Amino acid sequence: MKSLLIRGGHIIDPSQGIDEIGSLLITEGEISWLETGEVTPPQPDYDVLPARGLIVCPGFIDLHCHLRQPGFEEKETIATGTRAAARGGFTTICCMPNTNPPLDNQATIEYVKLKATTEGVVRVLPIGCISKGRKGEELAEIGELASAGVIAFSDDGEPAVDSRLMRQALDYSRAFGLPIIDHCEDTVLTEGGQMNEGIIATRLGLRGIPAAAEEIMVARDLALAQLTGARLHIAHTTTEGSVDLIRRAKEKGIQVTAEVTPHHLTLTEERVIGYDTNAKVNPPLRTREDIQALIQGLRENVIDVIATDHAPHTEADKLCEFALAPFGISGFETALGSLMSLVHDGQLTLATLVAKLTYEPSRIIGDKYGKLGTLAIGAPADVTIFDPNLEWAVDTKAFASKGKNTPLAGSILKGKIMATIVQGKLVYKDESLRLKEG
Ligand SMILES: [Zn+2]
Ligand SMILES: [Zn+2]
Repeated sequence: MKSLLIRGGHIIDPSQGIDEIGSLLITEGEISWLETGEVTPPQPDYDVLPARGLIVCPGFIDLHCHLRQPGFEEKETIATGTRAAARGGFTTICCMPNTNPPLDNQATIEYVKLKATTEGVVRVLPIGCISKGRKGEELAEIGELASAGVIAFSDDGEPAVDSRLMRQALDYSRAFGLPIIDHCEDTVLTEGGQMNEGIIATRLGLRGIPAAAEEIMVARDLALAQLTGARLHIAHTTTEGSVDLIRRAKEKGIQVTAEVTPHHLTLTEERVIGYDTNAKVNPPLRTREDIQALIQGLRENVIDVIATDHAPHTEADKLCEFALAPFGISGFETALGSLMSLVHDGQLTLATLVAKLTYEPSRIIGDKYGKLGTLAIGAPADVTIFDPNLEWAVDTKAFASKGKNTPLAGSILKGKIMATIVQGKLVYKDESLRLKEG
């Protein structure tokens, strides 16, 4: 394969503290050269991708998505999901095990890995179940899953309700150095809940999901992480109270990391007015105050990463009465565009945003799968290129994802992915970007 020079872009690589104009060269799937300033690379034989005016950064890593295969191929497949990820700038995605059958043994993990290599276009790292069959009763074969290569354990979609099981899971996973990712929800409190509890839910006549339902589980999990000394990762944090709990736990030295989704950072519960089932998500969209606390949490590294919780559904699934619709938003293809609003508003710096999508998630995964989240020489050439200022309209018909379920359909977003490169291979390119043959 011919080398590729990405020339004259604004390189942001938080792993190396780079935030300036420069060029980089990709040779045989690896980053072979990187220089800031106006310089010519050593070797003359390469194609050129002109990146003036564009941001060039390590490929985005998504710690939390749902690819729906095996079992729910009408909603998404590994082929369509990884193409949607590529269009969103993601080069590595970690998929949740709530498939059918669930990813609770080596055979299902091998199936996902094989599908990903034969039909996928980005790197897929599976997450294994905490409990057998995701039933919350008996611990899954943690050791078997660890040797099959899972990056974490989770029963996402459901919380680990049984505290003793959660304690066991933390104890076992510690031996393998892998985190337990919990979907924090007190399901007794949330039963029948449709949206955030509050005045809007009352007005709409929908049963509410209180912030306390999340915070109770976050508090319990933090106590168990302290007890076991194991690694805990909090999925989709949404409330000010959760951010406070995580902050205090980190101050105490508890091994906890946390994520937040683009939709919980940018959309409020008001989106549900009009009963838009595409705004129905679990945990629910919260308030302006919660969003401010989440952004503050990102700035202070209380919240480590941004993860999409991409949850595709069919049109038929969502075309129903609000109370009957499934929870979830199709998130890959709008993630950057919606997150860039926080940069344009001056709430997050571009470097912080890129760190939350690259370097920080790579630290949680570790380097068992190669050096991810960096443009360091010798690392796999996973590169994302985006235009921070390009405005575009969200057209779900153009989505690669089978899931068109987004409350952002028709919205104008400012910030667009222009190219996504996985191990040196261009897996997505915007039509307007021209490659020059060397
Ligand atoms: Zn969840
Ligand atoms: Zn999820």
